[in-house]
Amino acid sequence: MLSVTHLKKTYGTGDAAVEAIRDLTVTVEEGEFVCIVGPSGAGKTTLLKCLCGLLSPSSGTVVLDGETVTGPPKAMASVFQDYSRSLMPWFSVARNVDLPLRNKYRSASVREEKVSGALAAVGLESFGSRYPWELSGGMQQRVAIARGLAYEPEILLLDEPFASVDAQTRADLEDLILQVRDTTGVTMLLVTHDIDEAVYLADRVVVMSARPSVVVETVEIDLPRPRDQVGTKSLARFAELRAHVLGLIRHPTGDDLATGVRTNA
Ligand code: ADP
Ligand code: MG
Repeated sequence: MLSVTHLKKTYGTGDAAVEAIRDLTVTVEEGEFVCIVGPSGAGKTTLLKCLCGLLSPSSGTVVLDGETVTGPPKAMASVFQDYSRSLMPWFSVARNVDLPLRNKYRSASVREEKVSGALAAVGLESFGSRYPWELSGGMQQRVAIARGLAYEPEILLLDEPFASVDAQTRADLEDLILQVRDTTGVTMLLVTHDIDEAVYLADRVVVMSARPSVVVETVEIDLPRPRDQVGTKSLARFAELRAHVLGLIRHPTGDDLATGVRTNA
């Protein structure tokens, strides 16, 4: 569905040039949940901006449903890390969720239905007429997620969407995302620096090196579904996969074979 081939992105030119991404090749199949994990500054946000057509790559291609991405694709929605800046404080929660739908659906009643469906999916059905600043951080992030869902994208991009909430809220939001994915079947691509989160959520984890980033390895996550915070995270297999990914990030040259985790490069 989505294929990124030899993507390279350098900011600026000459002495001021910053090579953010050196060479990334990633594919995402329809219905798949792919997490890209890499250290801070590795170019994760840069990558997502290239995927959603906000930045053009220095070289390489992004192809969605057979078409090269050159601007924001209709089939895609994204949720960025900083929800406080992505929600309009002077609009109600429902109006915020409605905003991107205005380009897609003419009928107000159709939009209303999509908005209330998405708010219900994130457990905020009774908060539509409230304002973002009346809600907690975790609730605001749920509004941002609802906005992405209401649009009914084929693929949802998430950029460290749980990075600025407390641990308990984060766990709840992770489970919410898994549940939404189960009920809607939407394809998900999430980037994070958090290894536990990536292993917990994904079908496949793509491990990125530090800048200038390359793909170190792609790890198949063969943990059973449905997953749950306590059960899944206490499996021996979870610990193995987590240790393997951690090893790849710390020693990307790959002398971490002790865990015996099978991967494809
Ligand atoms: P991540 O999201 O993985 O933390 P980013 O994609 O934000 O990483 O940034 C990757 C690298 O590119 C960093 O070194 C950052 O300083 C640099 N960078 C990001 N945006 C710009 C920009 N607009 N101009 C110059 N350098 C940038
Ligand atoms: Mg980032």
